Amino acid sequence: MSKECLRQMIASAGWPMILLAGRGMNEPRVAVIMYHSVGGNAKMSLSPSAFSHHIDALQDMGAKFATVGEICGSREVSDWTICLTFDDGFEDNHSVVFPLLVNRGIRATFFLCSGFVDRRIDISARFRNYRGLSPMNWQQARELADAGMEIGCHTVSHPVLATLPAIMQEQEMANAKKEIEDQVGIEISSFAIPFGNRGTYTAETLDIAARYFRVCCTTRFSTNAIRFYRHREMVLFDRIEPRPSQSARQITDQGRGRWDALRWIQRPYRGTK
Ligand SMILES: [Zn+2]
Repeated sequence: MSKECLRQMIASAGWPMILLAGRGMNEPRVAVIMYHSVGGNAKMSLSPSAFSHHIDALQDMGAKFATVGEICGSREVSDWTICLTFDDGFEDNHSVVFPLLVNRGIRATFFLCSGFVDRRIDISARFRNYRGLSPMNWQQARELADAGMEIGCHTVSHPVLATLPAIMQEQEMANAKKEIEDQVGIEISSFAIPFGNRGTYTAETLDIAARYFRVCCTTRFSTNAIRFYRHREMVLFDRIEPRPSQSARQITDQGRGRWDALRWIQRPYRGTK
């Protein structure tokens, strides 16, 4: 059966088909969960209590937490491993998320957009769902790193990399990596593609990223096989993204791979969100 045929079947059958497709998957999976703002006053900010419920539900079900860098460097990856990731570098990631994680002994990965953190670019103005949110500052980024959190790179200005020539894509990655390394004082080896869904990056994007990073996260909706998919030497992770309206049960089902069929019907990128 072709992928397109499967996509059309799932699209026409709706949610029951998606859940059914996921239920048959018993192989171990690694879930990388993507968050943005938690506790901010933007439309898509997750409330601190909803976030806490997600984490409590995952912990109650025995999930083990790791950063994306840790998991890539590990020889043994156990089933039900969860990597929490936070994109863009919003200030609430430090003021709200950081204490919640420290209290639970969880390490996570924070992908910083260097121009946003440096207050040269207001990426929140471009995104209706996160408008008005402030970035963390470099001191706060250092505090995250000092506490064992992983800091990753999310470009300088959050462009759609697929629309840029190769030299500009490389500048977005290399300049952001260097600025974060200079400011935070650690090596940066993880990358999250801005937007990250189909159409926002190309094979050329991944070729360039593989020269600078060991691991790269997309936003294609899926958990990941324990035998990691690689582009050249770089590990490539799909991610799942909880919505503010979703329950803790839905998050744990997503973490178990029961919603992975969404990957095949996810819409490609078609313009600014
Ligand atoms: Zn982003």
